[in-house]
Amino acid sequence: MNRKFFILFGPPGAGKGTQAGALAERFNLCHISTGELLRSEIAAGTALGAKAKALIDNGNLVPDEMVEAMIEAKFQSVDGVDGFLLDGFPRTVSQAEALDAMLSKNGESVTACLSIMIPDSLVHERIAHRALLEGRADDARDEVVSNRIQTYHAKTEPLIAYYKSAGLYREVNGVGTIDQVRERIFQQI
Ligand code: AMP
Repeated sequence: MNRKFFILFGPPGAGKGTQAGALAERFNLCHISTGELLRSEIAAGTALGAKAKALIDNGNLVPDEMVEAMIEAKFQSVDGVDGFLLDGFPRTVSQAEALDAMLSKNGESVTACLSIMIPDSLVHERIAHRALLEGRADDARDEVVSNRIQTYHAKTEPLIAYYKSAGLYREVNGVGTIDQVRERIFQQI
């Protein structure tokens, strides 16, 4: 198989979800958002959703194994695409290692990590705006947003070094209009 695996990376509120649709369409990729998958589990009232809810509502990460299993199931079940666009996964170095292991079983590997960067000062502003539009519980409380930013710096940011050392890291400036940021990402692919 010659599938592409793009990681859409960035702090909460960077615009990953906003950009994902156009990128997935343009490059015939299946967009997988682990946050969306988890929110669907919660909405459907599954046991997995119940386990994830308190963690998400407080701005903490769910266990690595939980998201790794969801991702692997998607890789196995989705057909007819040229690859995948991962949004919100991996979020820890351990998840990145699990992803590499999963892909290498089929002789596949990560194609690139596309990083959308915005300063922390913009994160609060973007999320406050999204809270009005989407009504996500984890966007509504300031202390939860702050915890998500802290979690990003502590657990997710180390992935920048991980993908830089693999030669796969591409960063774009996430400050600007949706169209401007999209063009910057297109140029990196
Ligand atoms: P997102 O929609 O990407 O902002 O994710 C919302 C929430 O879902 C996060 O704050 C985490 O609690 C959880 N989540 C999403 N993706 C992951 C992941 N890869 N690892 C652990 N938790 C995740």
